[in-house]
Amino acid sequence: AIAAVTTPATAQPHAGLPYQNPALPVADRVSDLMARMSLDEKLGQMTQAERTALNPQSDLATYRIGSVLSGGGSAPSPNTAQSWADMYDSFQRTALSTPLGIPMIYGADAVHGHNNVVGATIFPHNIGLGATRDPALVQQIGRATAEEVAGTGVNWDFAPCLCVARNDRWGRTYESFGEVPSIATSMTTIVTGLQGTTLGAAPASVLATAKHYLGDGGTTGGVNEGNTQLSEADLRAIHLPPFKAAVDKGVGSVMISYSSWNGVKDHGNRHLITDILKGELGFSGFVVSDWAGIDQIDGQSGFSAADIDASINAGIDMVMVPTNYKQFISMLRTEVNNGHISRARIDDANRRILTKKFQLGLFEHPLADRTFTGTVGSAAHRATARQAVRESQVVLKNAGNILPLSKSAKVFVAGKSADDIGNQSGGWTISWQGGSGNVTPGTTVLQGIRNTVAGAGSVTYNRDGNGINSSYTAAVAVIGETPYAEGAGDRPGGMGLDQTDLATLNRLRASGVPVVVVLVSGRPLDISAQLPDWRALVESWLPGTEGQGVADVLFGTVHPTGKLPVSWPQSASQEPVNDGDGKTPLFPLGFGLTW
Ligand code: BGC
Repeated sequence: AIAAVTTPATAQPHAGLPYQNPALPVADRVSDLMARMSLDEKLGQMTQAERTALNPQSDLATYRIGSVLSGGGSAPSPNTAQSWADMYDSFQRTALSTPLGIPMIYGADAVHGHNNVVGATIFPHNIGLGATRDPALVQQIGRATAEEVAGTGVNWDFAPCLCVARNDRWGRTYESFGEVPSIATSMTTIVTGLQGTTLGAAPASVLATAKHYLGDGGTTGGVNEGNTQLSEADLRAIHLPPFKAAVDKGVGSVMISYSSWNGVKDHGNRHLITDILKGELGFSGFVVSDWAGIDQIDGQSGFSAADIDASINAGIDMVMVPTNYKQFISMLRTEVNNGHISRARIDDANRRILTKKFQLGLFEHPLADRTFTGTVGSAAHRATARQAVRESQVVLKNAGNILPLSKSAKVFVAGKSADDIGNQSGGWTISWQGGSGNVTPGTTVLQGIRNTVAGAGSVTYNRDGNGINSSYTAAVAVIGETPYAEGAGDRPGGMGLDQTDLATLNRLRASGVPVVVVLVSGRPLDISAQLPDWRALVESWLPGTEGQGVADVLFGTVHPTGKLPVSWPQSASQEPVNDGDGKTPLFPLGFGLTW
């Protein structure tokens, strides 16, 4: 039987109680509030439900649920910033209707800008930001993202991903800043951008999440949610440094990785979560599980009592359930009542969660800050994104210095990603997996080229490369990967170009016109066989909505400065190319030409 919390949800908040007094220290407010909370209220705080699962919405109040999330692409209709803010406020009003009036915290994956919202500024995915080697710019991106996120009411961002991607076959490689810990460590400036220097001190302060702890990018074969087989010394040396840096910058939450370390699921690993993260690193925020992540601990589908015991006792403070929240709360209650989980552990989790809610100012300003709603997709944010695109381009080949192209050249543009916002944005864009086509407003690479070519120059476009002839100065082929997210992007086979791209390239090559390849991809691809045919190669990564930045580099408006954040293997069979076995990659980590 599932018992709802019995206190009536209609009672008025007790105005004037110590926990409601912003002049008191946060620690005192938390203690006062916790002294007033029942066990069920505490269990609710540790529960996170998906917005679509909260049915009826009043369950949020009935079960005293502490957090709501939008899973990848889960958006209100219409999908506008305004309706997000309305949706948020509606959930928040429900949460506030309980006797103690504890606000909920709303989380979403704004992993390259506020990517679930149509019209938001989409920044390059992390791998492109890693190529910029520009932590100050990445901090600015964090600030811009926080403003767009705050403008929709969302106050918790499941970013940054601090994974150190060690094998490009992994479908989340593009969510990584690079294959070495130093790059991700330097880019933890994004935490300061998202939260501000002190959480809640500045307007539009959004709780950041360092994820996925620990070793998600180190799995054997680059298998998503796989097993990372490393000594503790190597795990610490390769995967821990960016998390330490994020903790030192005050990151408010940490999300646990689906992966295992030496065969043990991270979600149940007390040594990693309690001893190292909370103990040794001194992390004082709260730990959230990944989506149904606790379910995997015992290897059976769904969550069991054993999964709940193992995860909460390992140190997870909030569980992204995300759907069967009634059953979760009921089972968690049983585990507390039978002594498998201590009251002290429940209190510790609550203290951590509530501290962040108070610090964020949620008790004083629970509703969406609409002063930021108009910043979603603003010109200022798009200018920051364009700068990031410029700095993320990596020139890998430039035979005969064909680049930069002349703005008065006669250019032929081809390729499936030349005029495709969806492809250039990748996964985690409007939908979880992303998708090709016109998914959100922005400037495609083709439009950027058209905006740039002037005077005697001209731009002809054919997606498949039909119609090219020797009268053109250069052909620009924009090719690469189509969108994917998480395990759907794993490439246990090869990482070669697809048949569409090869057919386009063949048409261009037959014309004899020099070909400049712009690769839109989340990782290095197998190009050794084709590279000799290409006059130039620019790796664009997944640049997002501001494709003008690509044209700015191609046509010399700015000098290229991007450097590879990963080693580029000769072929997928070299993976992992960075394992210290003396392999010679096609292009080494840090490579990038300029003029
Ligand atoms: C991903 C996380 C994400 C979560 C919520 C999971 O599938 O691994 O990175 O934050 O979903 O959308």
